[in-house]
Amino acid sequence: MIKKPKKLLSNSNILPITILLVLLVGFFFYALKFSSQFFVIIVFSNLIVVFVLLFFRKQLILSQTDINLQKEDYSEQLNLLSLDIEKEKVALSSFRERIGGYTKLKAVAEKLSQCSSCKNAADILADEVMALFGRGDTTTILYLVDPKTSDLEMMAARRIESKINIKFKNGDLFDHWVIKNLKPLLITDSDRDFRFDIEKIDELQKDRQRRSVMIAPLMVGMRVFGLLHLDNPQEDRFSAEDLRFLSTIADLGAAAIENAQLYERIQNFAMKDGLTGLHLRRFLLERMSEELPRQLRRKQELSLLMIDLDHFKKYNDKFGHIAGDIVLKALGDILLKMFDKPGNIVCRYGGEEFVIFLPDCSKEQAKELAESLRKTISEQKIVLRREKTNITVSIGIACFPTDAQIKEELIQKADESMYQAKRKGRNRVCCF
Ligand code: GH3
Ligand code: MG
Ligand code: MG
Repeated sequence: MIKKPKKLLSNSNILPITILLVLLVGFFFYALKFSSQFFVIIVFSNLIVVFVLLFFRKQLILSQTDINLQKEDYSEQLNLLSLDIEKEKVALSSFRERIGGYTKLKAVAEKLSQCSSCKNAADILADEVMALFGRGDTTTILYLVDPKTSDLEMMAARRIESKINIKFKNGDLFDHWVIKNLKPLLITDSDRDFRFDIEKIDELQKDRQRRSVMIAPLMVGMRVFGLLHLDNPQEDRFSAEDLRFLSTIADLGAAAIENAQLYERIQNFAMKDGLTGLHLRRFLLERMSEELPRQLRRKQELSLLMIDLDHFKKYNDKFGHIAGDIVLKALGDILLKMFDKPGNIVCRYGGEEFVIFLPDCSKEQAKELAESLRKTISEQKIVLRREKTNITVSIGIACFPTDAQIKEELIQKADESMYQAKRKGRNRVCCF
């Protein structure tokens, strides 16, 4: 507050001034009556000047004090204003930081929205987190919870400065703390954190020094299905603000990974058979369209096995449809065990018909494989209603590009070979 300067003639001093002036004027007229006019005028004018000077001297001194006080007021106000400006500056810089944070989050969200698979989402998330927090020797790990075993499974790991070799692929004690407590964790110095057993921490440090740790769970509702884990060998590497930001990214990531998992599940429904877990015909045809031209360019032969169960109708009639399903599942397992290798496709082509697609496989190799498969199946004992039974299959083989030039023709030729095997008495392999 600025103090108002005191008025020269304020309410407090107007009365004495008036009395003094009245006395002076009275005395002036009284002196005029007894002395020469000129002398009185001179004396009184001098007296008035002296009086005025005396009076204003006091006022001048008073107003100087006022000015000093006012100066103090102004400087006090100036200080307050500079404090306000400082506060505004801090607010502005934190506002700018927040805008920067939102921009970064927007970029992360955009990248995550484009991911097509769970692995892809995990990689994007790990890269983005590394770009945001990956200072020096920081390690970033993304874990997902395996829905079948409920164990943590490492999906992506990143470090800038040194080579990365993660020992605890199913998470360490800090990760399990987050899973148990369903909340983020910040450790500024693991050596001084009383929440954890120091012996267990010492054991952990032998693998990799992690004095600063920051973990945010990937959660949808109350379900944790992953973790974003960051650690650094130095203390005080992460702040509470960092953890807040990481948690927001984890929320975005959780939504993206959940979407990717749902998408993959739907894809699986469309591409995989529910009973045997084998690929369906559509998947086989799509992959064949990509693979045949590639095989042609590489001048390699590929083979296709068409497998059909012998007298399966009778089997169903004797043991029932459910038993028949068990047999189909068992056959699917045998096929996967023998042929589920990179590049191969194991497919349930129809009811009790299966196709094995074998890139880089000559007719001779295919014959050997088919014969071994036929033998394995015929020797497999299946116990149904306490009765030991066995099944047999007829297998037809056709090769690309020797027997057929397009996929439909290749399938047809393999089918013809399979029917040839049926005609010849079943439980055998025939080539086109
Ligand atoms: P073959 O091939 O040796 O000539 O005789 P088959 O009896 O196997 O031939 P067919 O093609 O006439 O019969 C196929 C049978 O497979 C008919 C059907 O009951 C059975 N089948 C098809 N799909 C399924 C299925 O998903 N579950 C069960 N249990 N049976 C199935
Ligand atoms: Mg059939
Ligand atoms: Mg059959």
